[in-house]
Amino acid sequence: MHVLVTGAAGFLGSHLTDRLLGEGHSVLGVDNLSTGDPQNLAHLAHEPRFRFELRDICEPFDPGPVDYVFNLASPASPPEYLRLAIETLRVGSVGTENTLQIAARHGAGFLHASTSECYGDPLVHPQTEDYWGNVNPVGPRSVYDEAKRFAEALVMAYHRSRGVNTHLVRIFNTYGPRLHPSDGRVISNFFMQALKGEPLTVYGDGNQTRSFCYVDDLIEGILRLSRSEEHFPVNIGNPDEFTILECAQAVLEATGSKSELRFHPLPEDDPARRRPDITRARTILDWKPQVALKEGLAKSLPFFQKKLDRL
Ligand code: NAD
Ligand code: UDP
Repeated sequence: MHVLVTGAAGFLGSHLTDRLLGEGHSVLGVDNLSTGDPQNLAHLAHEPRFRFELRDICEPFDPGPVDYVFNLASPASPPEYLRLAIETLRVGSVGTENTLQIAARHGAGFLHASTSECYGDPLVHPQTEDYWGNVNPVGPRSVYDEAKRFAEALVMAYHRSRGVNTHLVRIFNTYGPRLHPSDGRVISNFFMQALKGEPLTVYGDGNQTRSFCYVDDLIEGILRLSRSEEHFPVNIGNPDEFTILECAQAVLEATGSKSELRFHPLPEDDPARRRPDITRARTILDWKPQVALKEGLAKSLPFFQKKLDRL
């Protein structure tokens, strides 16, 4: 297959690209490098089945015939999407429509990277795909949440009205090597702080929860969904739920660090809890995560260690 991956220089996009190349496909990766890192693709410099184009997907483009489009382009960490507020809304709307048009024009399959943020600060726990969410449409996080919710509506409209073979994955917090060490997400922040011996920055009282999925599990789930007949959203994430305090403790154990915890104010609208119900993924895709948090943190450690050595 000829595959287009948008956001290819990002954390998930680069891992997905590696998996697709490993399966023998050819990949065109596009990225505007707004939050991505070319280093994530540096190992593919001499790979003849991979080509990279620096471009903003909000500008219309035609990559020529493609069999599949994976649309991952979007800032993803809260500090980055707050910094790139309008860009985030545009990539979820204009950018996503541009890539849907590519899929429609070339008869390609299409998978959009949506998010557990569609559930907002959820009143249903764990979150099932048929829960409509509790999102503040005008709060600071709305630039991301509403972009993703609009994108889901757009994807469903291209499926229903134009017959595009679309798929929607709702990704829950995912971590692993290539998570940008300074993009502000909790696992990368805690790793870098622990390795430097600095205090770990816990926001709020640290009793809010997240459910962390290791990147290899996530990519496997995305690939299975892309090959399925399912057009409605599917949660992909690890249902093991941790408080942020437990997460801090786990990173301290993984790194052997003696850093202390330092408490900071909780960001506005920070969701109190997050846990995927993965019944749909289990049933339809025969998928479940294989890597527990402790093991995933151990697998991630060498990446963050190397980043620290290069600072
Ligand atoms: P990332 O920031 O590492 O990667 C996103 C990539 O998209 C970056 O390389 C960035 O430069 C690129 N990009 C942004 N705007 C663009 C534009 N207009 N044109 C071209 N490229 C653009 O983030 P990630 O964690 O790899 O996330 C990938 C996708 O998965 C995103 O859509 C994100 O919303 C979604 N997601 C990720 C998680 C997670 O835990 N990692 C959770 C939920 C959803
Ligand atoms: N968080 C934290 N310290 C940090 C970064 C994040 O306590 O240095 C908290 C944040 O407030 C949230 C959780 O960790 O409750 C997950 O944050 P992240 O930005 O990784 O992802 P989110 O799920 O909020 O999009």
